[in-house]
Amino acid sequence: MNREEFIKKSLLLGVGAAYFPSIFLVCQKENGDSSAASLNYDGEVLIIGAGAAGLMAAYRLAQNQIRFRVLEASATFGGRVKKIQDFADFPIDLGAEWIHDEPTIFRDMIRNDQVDGSIDLIPYNPSEIKGWRNGKLRNHSFFSTFYSEYKFKSTTWYDFFEDFIVPTIGLNNMTFNSPVNEIDYSGNRVSVTTTNGTVYEADKVLVTASINVLQGGLISFMPALPQSKINALDEFYMPDGLKVFIQFSERFYPDMLLMQGLFSMLSDESEEKIYYDAAFKKDSNQNILGLFTVGPVASSFTNMNTEQELINAILAELDEIFEGKASHTYQKHIIQNWSKEPYVRGSYNFEGTSSAISEMLKGVDGKIYFAGEAISTSVQATVHGAGQSGFYQMEELVK
Ligand SMILES: Cc1cc2nc3c(=O)[nH]c(=O)nc-3n(C[C@H](O)[C@H](O)[C@H](O)COP(=O)(O)OP(=O)(O)OC[C@H]3O[C@@H](n4cnc5c(N)ncnc54)[C@H](O)[C@@H]3O)c2cc1C
Repeated sequence: MNREEFIKKSLLLGVGAAYFPSIFLVCQKENGDSSAASLNYDGEVLIIGAGAAGLMAAYRLAQNQIRFRVLEASATFGGRVKKIQDFADFPIDLGAEWIHDEPTIFRDMIRNDQVDGSIDLIPYNPSEIKGWRNGKLRNHSFFSTFYSEYKFKSTTWYDFFEDFIVPTIGLNNMTFNSPVNEIDYSGNRVSVTTTNGTVYEADKVLVTASINVLQGGLISFMPALPQSKINALDEFYMPDGLKVFIQFSERFYPDMLLMQGLFSMLSDESEEKIYYDAAFKKDSNQNILGLFTVGPVASSFTNMNTEQELINAILAELDEIFEGKASHTYQKHIIQNWSKEPYVRGSYNFEGTSSAISEMLKGVDGKIYFAGEAISTSVQATVHGAGQSGFYQMEELVK
């Protein structure tokens, strides 16, 4: 089920749960299977990318004693899961932040029933919700009745991977600062070259780079991918995305501020712009406001040339809504522009039919495989959907 189908279904059923777009998305498990068959394979696997999909693929291979190496373009693991520890008195998720499902997803990911109790979560149910439209601040607090999901309290999505997944994979099995720019699968084995000229060989390769990285041709394949794969890839759409956190000396904002009408959000979920109290229910004495925006509305920010220009535009917008209080009480900010991350290049996927997903999940020549949030068969655009995609794609890969 894609996001749009989920939202429509929720509305039709009058589901008393999240039916806002993306950050509010509650996923439905279509695979629903938490069992994990043991895998047998005596070849060697290279995994391109250490985001949620690559990490969960590596986790499964490690659990099955299958030889692998993860090649990651950036200096650390996580991809669109990223944290900053020292901006505020609590760690902040600069990418994925909400848990768009029940907390049981953690034990499903780790395959360990004991784990739920050791992850400290907040039931995330903002009560003061406002909307800014046509120059007026409107009360949307009635919406809190329909909405509840989860966030981490004193940790982050990054900590989840660091604490529960990476130790099994082993940091020594990951090579960082290694952007792959060529995958040659013309021979018996696959030869993978990074931009610094290092060549790795393996029997099979899993590529977990984002849709925009793949569509942008950052990795060239030799021979070229089959036309059916190229056509399927063209169907996906990953717009711009940005998160900003600002510290103020006063809390002048509500729990959540929607910057577009509720119904336009529901009808076009590929556009979102929301300010929210990032310290909501955290153990914090600080006033930290988050901005989350994706889609064309995000592009006006992500395309700005300098960080100063961007923060000035945000403060001016908040000043208009809150009568100058933003500039008056501003202390500091941090910007995470996902569109400018060279090996992500945007937010997350909004398109792609189930046939395009099936096509992307097919192996090429029994050697090249793909995984990632965009081609998750449970739920796209989420961390656990990306993880599920990497984890299950390993069954296809070892066939
Ligand atoms: C602003 C924002 C907010 C979000 N909020 C939430 C949320 O609240 N909850 C939620 O569940 N999800 C959220 N998401 C979505 C979630 O973060 C993603 O769906 C998920 O993390 C994607 O994982 P992935 O492994 O598919 O891709 P990625 O995280 O992009 O991982 C791919 C990895 O591959 C690496 N790579 C790319 N190209 C190469 C190359 N050529 N060579 C080597 N390595 C390469 C990249 O550096 C990256 O580390 C959010 C995303 C964004 C951007």
